[in-house]
This record gives sequence, structure tokens and C-alpha cells, in this order.
Amino acid sequence: MQATQTDEPQAPSALQIASNVSELRAAVAAARTQGKSIGLVPTMGALHAGHLSLIEASRRECDYTVVTIFVNPTQFGPSEDFERYPRTLDADLAGIRRLGAELAFVPATSELYRPQHATFIEVHGPAEPLEGQRRPGHFRGVATIVLKLFNLAAPDRAYFGQKDYQQTLVVRRMVADLDLPIEVRVCPTVREPDGLAMSSRNVYLGPAERQQALTLYRSLQQGAELFAAGERNAETLATEMRKLYEAAPLVRLEYLAVADPETLAPIARVSSRAVIAVAAQVGKTRLIDNYLLES
Ligand code: AMP
Repeated sequence: MQATQTDEPQAPSALQIASNVSELRAAVAAARTQGKSIGLVPTMGALHAGHLSLIEASRRECDYTVVTIFVNPTQFGPSEDFERYPRTLDADLAGIRRLGAELAFVPATSELYRPQHATFIEVHGPAEPLEGQRRPGHFRGVATIVLKLFNLAAPDRAYFGQKDYQQTLVVRRMVADLDLPIEVRVCPTVREPDGLAMSSRNVYLGPAERQQALTLYRSLQQGAELFAAGERNAETLATEMRKLYEAAPLVRLEYLAVADPETLAPIARVSSRAVIAVAAQVGKTRLIDNYLLES
């Protein structure tokens, strides 16, 4: 096992880096023996302040934080960006180290998907609409890797971002259905100063695209304002929000849905709660965002 000391003498803790399953299991078992609670933060790397907020939450709530960096091939469709997904390992490890997490798990693809791999987790219900329709197989890949990481790290709590709202529903459904003894914690979406949700994919955006990408956030704001002013008709809300996209020719709206926040089923009227979920293609980059309406 490679133990990496930080260069700074006052660093909060030494970050241990595990690259295979047995190193991860041994490190977590040792922490357990010391009576420590375990927090897990699954990521695909290219870390930004959104990811770091999850690590901070785990550091606050758990004694031992495991951050995983794994660009999971099974959640990418054949025409998606697996090959060109940003990979910034050195900077990622520096960020993880700075926040004082105890362990980074950085496996090769072949470590988690051995050649004979033949088992996948299929979640129905909340995995089916929206992203499920647009990205067939995506949540099958997500659920499979998340369950593997849950099995390997056996955390008390696992940290996810609201940015991927549907993913949090899928993970919660899987945890409940499979009786996993894990608390799923969902942290708020971290945004750029102008409101764009932070995403590892934002680096793909050219300057004009970056400007127009703000339409996603603006439309959510618009929905929130209309809701605050008393509008409860879901179609009216959606229609008003969609109008903003007419002024953004580089943004191709895939869906904008006002939906039940638990099932993601379409709703006609917002009673007390709803989620606005939006996905759009900005140039070659696909972005998602969401906002919870609560009265
Ligand atoms: P990813 O590396 O994109 O798979 O994301 C890893 C985790 O970070 C997921 O739980 C995401 O929901 C979360 N995350 C990504 N972007 C943000 C953000 N802007 N704010 C909060 N959490 C985020």
C-alpha cells in the first residue's frame, strides 16, 4: 500500500492512496477496528468545489473519509464522452489531501470490471424517466458501480450531490430495496458565481457556450420566482421557463420537466413540492440542472 505524505508539515492527515480492492478493504477494516465511522464520496475525478463540498460534509460527519476516483465506463453510452472525460488526477489528489480525507481509492478499470464481469444492477421506478430515457443504460452503470463501492468500502454514510438529482433518487431506491445499512446524504448543488452548476464537463464549453449555458440556471430561477408568486400550474411554469431558451441558440433543450420529487412522474399542479429538472446540449456538451420547489 502506498502511503503518500504531504509536503506540508501541518497537513491535517496523511492521505493514503489505494489502487486495488484489497488495499481498500484492508485500510477500511483497520479504521473499523479503531471504531471509526466511514464516509464514502464516490466521484469520477476532475474534482471541483461541488465534489469538495461532499468531502467536507463527510469529514464533518464521519471519522474516516474515503474518496473514490473512477471514471466508470458502464455509465457512458457508446456515443458519449468516456474517452475524452477530463482526467486531472494530480490536482484531484492535492484537493483531497488538502481537505484531510484519509483514503483515496483510484482503481484501474480492470480492477473493478474484470474480464468475466457479468452482473449489473437494474433499478426501475425513478431510474426510468428523464435521464433514463435519454441515456439508456446510464443508471444501470451508476447503480452497479455504486453498489460495488458500497460493498468495498462498507461506509456508514455515502455523499452525493443534488446536482444529479435523479441519481440520488436511484441510489436511495437501491439502498432501500436491497436493505443496505448505509445512510445516503445529499448535499446542495455548488454553483459558479453567476449560477452555473459546477460540473466537470463545464471545461468543454467555449466562451459563447459558457455564456448561454447560464440559460439552464436562469430558467430554474424563473420557475422559482413564478412559484414564489403563486403559480402552481406545472405546464404554465414549464412554458414560461422554456421561453428563455429561445434567446440561446447554442443551447438545445432536451427536457424541462416539472415533476414529482420522489417518483419524477409528471404532475399537473404543484401542491407542496416538485422538482424542476432540465437537460440541454450546449454545443457538444450535455448539461443538467434542477431545482426543488417547496412551499
Ligand atoms: P461526478 O464526478 O460527476 O460523478 O460527481 C460525483 C459526485 O459529485 C456526485 O454525487 C455528484 O452529484 C456530485 N456533484 C457534481 N457536481 C456537483 C455540484 N456542482 N454540486 C454538488 N455536488 C456535485
